[in-house]
Amino acid sequence: MLCPACEVEMLILEYSNIEIDFCQQCGGIWLDEGELELLLQPGSPNSKLVADLIAGLKNLDKPGMARKCPVCRKKMKPVELSIEPVVEIDKCPYNHGIWFDKGELQQIMSSTGASGKLSEFLNSVFKKK
Ligand SMILES: [Zn+2]
Ligand SMILES: [Zn+2]
Repeated sequence: MLCPACEVEMLILEYSNIEIDFCQQCGGIWLDEGELELLLQPGSPNSKLVADLIAGLKNLDKPGMARKCPVCRKKMKPVELSIEPVVEIDKCPYNHGIWFDKGELQQIMSSTGASGKLSEFLNSVFKKK
């Protein structure tokens, strides 16, 4: 898959049998629909939190950064996560997945307190250059 921001081929990383697409050039992360929930293990205290976060996604009534979904190539819509501080992410209008710019996923993790293994993993990913 191509990075929605820089259109280079993304690296596929594996974490707990979940494929995460990672762009080495810009540090962004693409998660297919449902992978964010999977990342936080069903049944763990974090999975409800993430479900709430996703349910609380607000469509922003403004043009996005013209990033295209790597699956269907349609323009993604900016959405806001209702956490403090507010994080704006890009989401495919057909629900193929969610795009996180560099650091946004970690920001979400730390804002929601959903730290632990996943954030360790992400930090190690971002340190790889
Ligand atoms: Zn990129
Ligand atoms: Zn799509």
